[in-house]
Amino acid sequence: MRTFRHSIFAAAALAAVVGGGVLLRAQTRTTGAPAAPQSTAAGHLTSPKEAWGHNVGDDYFLADYTQLGAYWHQLEKESNRIHIKSIGKTAEGRDQWMAVITSPQNYAKLDHYRDISARLSTAEGLTEAQAKALAAEGKAVVWIDGGLHASETLGAQQLLETVWQLVSGTDAETQRLLNDVIILCVPANPDGMELVSDWYMKHGNMNVPRLWNHYAGHDDNRDSFMNALPETTNVSNVMYREWYPQIMYNHHQSGPQGAVMFAPPFRDPFNYFFHPEIPADIDLIGSIIATRAIEEGKPGVVNRKGQNYSTWWNGGFRTTAYFHNQIGILTETIGSPDPQSVPFTTRFSIGDSSDWYPIAPHEVWHYRQSIDYSVTANKAVLDFASRFREQLLIRMYEMARDEIKWGSEDHWTFTPHRRPESARRFIRTIRSSCRPRARRSRTAAGIRPCRTTAAPPVRAAGARAAAVAAAGAAAPVRPRSGPRSPPRSCAIRAATSCRPTSPTSAAPWTSSTRSSSPASP
Ligand SMILES: [Zn+2]
Repeated sequence: MRTFRHSIFAAAALAAVVGGGVLLRAQTRTTGAPAAPQSTAAGHLTSPKEAWGHNVGDDYFLADYTQLGAYWHQLEKESNRIHIKSIGKTAEGRDQWMAVITSPQNYAKLDHYRDISARLSTAEGLTEAQAKALAAEGKAVVWIDGGLHASETLGAQQLLETVWQLVSGTDAETQRLLNDVIILCVPANPDGMELVSDWYMKHGNMNVPRLWNHYAGHDDNRDSFMNALPETTNVSNVMYREWYPQIMYNHHQSGPQGAVMFAPPFRDPFNYFFHPEIPADIDLIGSIIATRAIEEGKPGVVNRKGQNYSTWWNGGFRTTAYFHNQIGILTETIGSPDPQSVPFTTRFSIGDSSDWYPIAPHEVWHYRQSIDYSVTANKAVLDFASRFREQLLIRMYEMARDEIKWGSEDHWTFTPHRRPESARRFIRTIRSSCRPRARRSRTAAGIRPCRTTAAPPVRAAGARAAAVAAAGAAAPVRPRSGPRSPPRSCAIRAATSCRPTSPTSAAPWTSSTRSSSPASP
């Protein structure tokens, strides 16, 4: 039931946003009611060019972390849309800055909105009615990071451009995003950004003679399940103890050859331990990123088999978030301050369901083009969060509510344990579905058809009695003597009481294997 209901929402949202997304967005941009006007404290906003003499993404230029921090603090003085906070110290003792970007009206109630996000995410002590009221009132929270792998310089640099556009934008969409969403922008590896940027600007290459995370080197994205690194601890504190963002976006580099960006949907198999809304929403938002890129004339955003990424690794920034019911988005994008090319590849020369809008080969591809793709993807995610603000918040509550319930009971296993009624229903289903297969197998393997009688009636009331009865029904029935059938570890076989018809059809069954059978203690 729950999956069906969620599927309806996901399908409706996908149809509305992907199918008619371009039209919908175009209409909103021209006819949507303008949001409350945003003001700045000082009037003039310092642009990146004024700050460093370069635009973000200029060829042969990388801003370092010191410049990032100084620039964000400058913007904080000039604008009431951005507020800078240190979320902790890095391994080398730097402050790890987080830019909180939202409307001044939202910022005035920031603690209140953070509390709403936290309460819905944990779902503790909330009724459905209370949750709906909080979702209607709250603001979507979106986390965007960059530069986790410091040699992937695009991640940190695109963060600079994104912040600048959100702070300086006067268009209706930017103002709507600021009104509906609280945006958390965080450089994921400050020490690495300083090291790599400084080395590049001094030597003109990325051949840094030491690793760019003080302890973990490149693999700082393997720490999120244990938080051994100070940067990971800082991030986890914000994501899982303070803000509980509904969406987190983790930028990486580089995209596959012959394309510009890999975005979700990821290849199968998805991790089916997550709440089913998580993979559904990942696919939905990934499709919206591609849709917006198509709308803006940006080809070369590929998905699924376009790259080998999945949701199975459980210890990364993005994948750990899934276990907190946060929709984690990963993109891998090409880009370098040294101009590069987009080569011809047979793989991406003709469009398919993993590459809706192939890109033609480019002899020269500038860093700024990759910055623009990254900003497009960020705005696609923020646009989704704005349009589906209330749904994101209430679904955060629903996922938490479901998982508290599921974690309190055996909701899937057919081993009679805590839910004997469910177990007995399951066993009856397995028996009835097993019957034709067993008949077919009789001549081939000498297996007698499964017994199809229902589980014995529960004579005594109470969960324990029912559990005992269901356990009895699940136990395999063995011949009293003689060799038995080969042990089948499959519990379904045990539950359906299939047994050999003839001693000659069975292989020897030693006492040691007997002890490991499902019926043995
Ligand atoms: Zn990476």
